[in-house]
Amino acid sequence: MPDQCKVEDLLILGTGPAGLTAAIYAARANLDPLVLHGQQPGGQLTTTTLVENYPGFPDGIDGPELMQRLEQQARRFGTRLVQQTVQRVDLTPPILRVFTEEGCYQGRTLIITTGASAKMLGLPGEKEMYGRGVSVCATCDGFFYRDKEVVVVGGGDTAMEDATFLARFARHVTVVHRRDQLRATPPLQQRARNHPRISFRWDTVVSALHGDRDSGLTGLTLRHVRTGEEELFSCDGVFIAVGHQPNTELFRNQLRLDQGGYIVTRNGAETNIPGVFAAGDVQDDRFRQAITAAGTGAMAAIQAERFLDSVDAHHG
Ligand code: NDP
Repeated sequence: MPDQCKVEDLLILGTGPAGLTAAIYAARANLDPLVLHGQQPGGQLTTTTLVENYPGFPDGIDGPELMQRLEQQARRFGTRLVQQTVQRVDLTPPILRVFTEEGCYQGRTLIITTGASAKMLGLPGEKEMYGRGVSVCATCDGFFYRDKEVVVVGGGDTAMEDATFLARFARHVTVVHRRDQLRATPPLQQRARNHPRISFRWDTVVSALHGDRDSGLTGLTLRHVRTGEEELFSCDGVFIAVGHQPNTELFRNQLRLDQGGYIVTRNGAETNIPGVFAAGDVQDDRFRQAITAAGTGAMAAIQAERFLDSVDAHHG
């Protein structure tokens, strides 16, 4: 049970690359961080397979193993990790409060790294075939689709970037978009539209996924939204690029969020509330890489340490 009276120097929410990197830095700076995480410790990387673009691992490393190593490294310097789902926060300085179903934690500083979740289509089989033909990350998984037939769902910048990236490997890429106009910015659109191995299906949605966990994805049913006509489409992979959702529900009405619901940061990892910092995907809808999340986690820890120093200097 949490000690109701004790005020921690630093609370961290989340154990993705941002949260654990913040913990490593903070623990080494003697801030004795307490890290709270929910049902999916390790964040989005735990759902991926081989990570080949995290510096320092020339042969690649499995996502779950990378997260385990970061956790070990954080624990080595004394980080405390607690699995409790946060239900409510009260971000009124100078003491920041985090409520779980088991009690309340208090901190002089707080680093929020609750991440983002890729939006899914919500179709049967989607979860079972995740990592086996169903992906939400072209940069992570594209390499595995050399000479394969792949589909990208979505009409935004991510979908165009994914399609163009995948066309480096795949035999052919089909973009399936629910309207007849793309939302993506013109340069990204043009690159995809001009690519000889990318084609488009307009006014079309994916209405079913075919395959199973053992065989992986074998195809899709595509439905034309105007005519209702359905078609079986054989493919080896589907990349869902219909946007991400930042996990910021808890902070609505307390922290400044942008239009997409992401936490607004400035000067590194500062939020609009003194002592509250944010790092990783919860404040980044552009880069969304493990290494960039880790980088902002380090920034947040350094800033939390400096914040505490300045408060102590002021009062001491
Ligand atoms: P967006 O929200 O911009 O686009 C999502 C796309 O998915 C839209 O085309 C939308 O269709 C479609 N979509 C949404 N829900 C569904 C659904 N249930 N079924 C089918 N299609 C659906 O997300 P992005 O991830 O593309 O971009 C997020 C932000 O990141 C944007 O601000 C973007 O500019 C930025 N970004 C910038 C990049 C760059 O500058 N290089 C690269 C990547 C992202 P509809 O159009 O009909 O709404």
